Amino acid sequence: MRVRIIGSGSSGNVLYVESGETRILVDVGLSAREASRRLTEAGIDPSSIDGIVVTHEHGDHSRGVSVFARSNDIPVYLTEGTREACQFGRFESKMRFVDVQSSESFQIGSLDIHPFAVPHDAVDSFALTIESGGAKIGFVTDLGYITQLVCDRVRGADVLILESNHDVEMLKICPHYPWSLKQRVLSKHGHLSNDHVSAFLAEEFDGRASHVVLAHLSKNTNHPEVARLAALQALSKRGPLFSFDAERRVSTADPDGMSPWINM
Ligand SMILES: [Zn+2]
Ligand SMILES: [Zn+2]
Repeated sequence: MRVRIIGSGSSGNVLYVESGETRILVDVGLSAREASRRLTEAGIDPSSIDGIVVTHEHGDHSRGVSVFARSNDIPVYLTEGTREACQFGRFESKMRFVDVQSSESFQIGSLDIHPFAVPHDAVDSFALTIESGGAKIGFVTDLGYITQLVCDRVRGADVLILESNHDVEMLKICPHYPWSLKQRVLSKHGHLSNDHVSAFLAEEFDGRASHVVLAHLSKNTNHPEVARLAALQALSKRGPLFSFDAERRVSTADPDGMSPWINM
């Protein structure tokens, strides 16, 4: 299995996952044109994608879904609630959908996909793990806090992509956001902070993942080095088994472009 973050953060989330002959995207939050451009740059033919999984209806996850799916004739895997909330309108009849449940596993080719519900201000949003050939990816963004279910599901992941959206202090003083938006982000149905991630890494993380990628970073209320340093400090509290090689294992997803390939 190999995986690449094509886009991450409020400008648009797209994850590419490949195993054998199977290729999927999780979310197309970039415009279809930009997603296609980046995939082509990464050596991936957009028309070779076998399925698009949509985690929830927010624009930074669904913006390019309709155009990308229709222009490449790709089936879209999503819950009924998310499909309705996406409001594909007159284009809906021209799209192919596969109804999934936010808590029931399904397969696309050689990939086993295990969604699970997360607390977020969307109709029926989920995070997921993807397994193939004995390797496991955890993909957990867009949630207000880390539930016990999240801890249970990501155990054993070889690659963990985890939201580290904001620094709480930077968010509180950010001049660009109205207070109502700050309250939304900070709420139990908002986004994970660096503190949430630190607490998870210091208490619940099993230490297995060879790659921990901090994702969905806010450009206004976080900084890659601040997020990464918080994660490294949390791991250092766990002792040498966890802090071993942490500098190499912990990275941040680029909010303006693609992140490097990760091979498993
Ligand atoms: Zn998002
Ligand atoms: Zn969201």
